Amino acid sequence: METNLKILVLGAGLAGIGAATKLLSLGFKDVTIIEASGLAGGRIAKECLGKSWVDTGAQYIHGASEANPVFCLMRQHGLLGDVVTEEGTDLVFHSKGRRISGDLAGRVYEAGEGIIRQPHKGNPGKNIGDYYAEKSLDLAKSWKSSSEDKDDVLSILSLVGKSLMIDIGAPALSSVSLDSWQYYTNMGEDLDIGGKMFNVTEKLLVDFPKERLLLNRPVIKINWNGSFCGDAGRLYPVCIECENGEKFLCDHVVVTISLGCLKAAPTTMFNPQLPEDKREALDKLGFGCVNKIILQYEEAFWERDAGSISLLWEDETPASLSTDATQWQKNIQLFTVMRPREKFGNVLIGWCSGNVAQHVETMTEAELSAAITSNFRKFMGNPNIPCPKTVLCTKWHGKAFIRGAYAYIPVGVDGVIMDTLARPLSSMKSSTEDLQVLFAGEATMKNLYGTVQGALLSGHREADRISQHYGRTAPSSTPCSSSAAT
Ligand SMILES: Cc1cc2nc3c(=O)[nH]c(=O)nc-3n(C[C@H](O)[C@H](O)[C@H](O)COP(=O)(O)OP(=O)(O)OC[C@H]3O[C@@H](n4cnc5c(N)ncnc54)[C@H](O)[C@@H]3O)c2cc1C
Repeated sequence: METNLKILVLGAGLAGIGAATKLLSLGFKDVTIIEASGLAGGRIAKECLGKSWVDTGAQYIHGASEANPVFCLMRQHGLLGDVVTEEGTDLVFHSKGRRISGDLAGRVYEAGEGIIRQPHKGNPGKNIGDYYAEKSLDLAKSWKSSSEDKDDVLSILSLVGKSLMIDIGAPALSSVSLDSWQYYTNMGEDLDIGGKMFNVTEKLLVDFPKERLLLNRPVIKINWNGSFCGDAGRLYPVCIECENGEKFLCDHVVVTISLGCLKAAPTTMFNPQLPEDKREALDKLGFGCVNKIILQYEEAFWERDAGSISLLWEDETPASLSTDATQWQKNIQLFTVMRPREKFGNVLIGWCSGNVAQHVETMTEAELSAAITSNFRKFMGNPNIPCPKTVLCTKWHGKAFIRGAYAYIPVGVDGVIMDTLARPLSSMKSSTEDLQVLFAGEATMKNLYGTVQGALLSGHREADRISQHYGRTAPSSTPCSSSAAT
């Protein structure tokens, strides 16, 4: 077995941190993370708002169960103690200035979710948008209630579609494959841990040697299939070039940079170029966008037990859903309340996705504040609702080293293409598999893409791959089993 192996990990998001920390735990000594930005965490990020931190990226544990290593890690470190687990009241208002009955909203929402969240398979070429429009119109028609309610039913069903768009980030539901979740592992109920997710990065890195996390080093070239001469004439197959001119040689590089960044530079970053099937996978997979508009108020204008505020537009139907930037106001209609109030103060998070998420990045805080306040006043029938004292809009599309939110599977594409993205590259000069370039990151996980645990487990998967290559057995190094990393 080799003892002086050099391993580089590109990117200090959860995939990179997962790969690097697991490699160390497997006994590999020379493991270095190279990160483009000035901070570790990637799409797990925080900003200070008033008296507390808020998560600007991931904030939900998708599947708060033993199966989820992120949930287990948080629990192991006692970080879930003050998380509010009771569902707050969902306040729903109509554009005509009236409140929708919570009972009706709850029942329709549940029925809509029952349609839209079902996993499907065997529908190549079909999209979620058409499917949901058809099924939800049938549901609305057969809804046993007064005629006034029927219009509200359609509007609530539209809201369900909008919520899914936030979970996907795509420009429209009609661009997303109906079979998107055929391979997905459902780990259980979601848990909102807003204001705590960033702890995951800190806890995972606590024992990682500081000098082995190199920040502010954007990698511009990955030269592989080579023979690069290092110290004492030792030859390495891979040479990484950074923007600042630094070069790093290694035996293996684990590339964890986002799908958005890989899509933007598929032909310039790799030398030799990526194989055809990988370029095709990059081209076909979608990388959506989601942004949060975080609003801090002097006083709350919502009820103390509120968990969310939703705004229903009367002319919207499930068939008309899109994220057309000209209709951006209609696409900022779901606001979650940061709880507990004692910790966060009076803070709402407005969510938007797709083209609207990109559009809001071009707006000023004053423009967002004015439009959102005017809508709250109109929908809630209260002209005295104040403007927020602080507006913080995330800009995930504009972040040069992220370029969006997460991967999605476009219509006509099968999720197995993510396996192609995950496949490592070996020497083209010999038939021996030597795993020169390996790939991790949420977009390489067809069973958990778009999630924090998916990113972490993809890093573990590549660490295990290297370990198995050298005949090492992997001790269990995570708080929970990582068997979902398939
Ligand atoms: C707004 C938003 C909300 C989300 N909400 C949730 C949620 O509630 N729950 C959930 O589970 N998931 C959520 N996600 C998704 C989750 O955050 C991601 O799936 C996960 O964090 C991705 O981790 P990663 O390591 O694959 O990629 P990243 O976090 O993107 O890490 C990649 C790293 O590579 C670095 N990099 C890029 N280019 C280079 C380069 N050229 N050289 C060197 N380094 C480079 C980047 O700076 C970055 O640090 C959300 C994401 C966003 C944006």
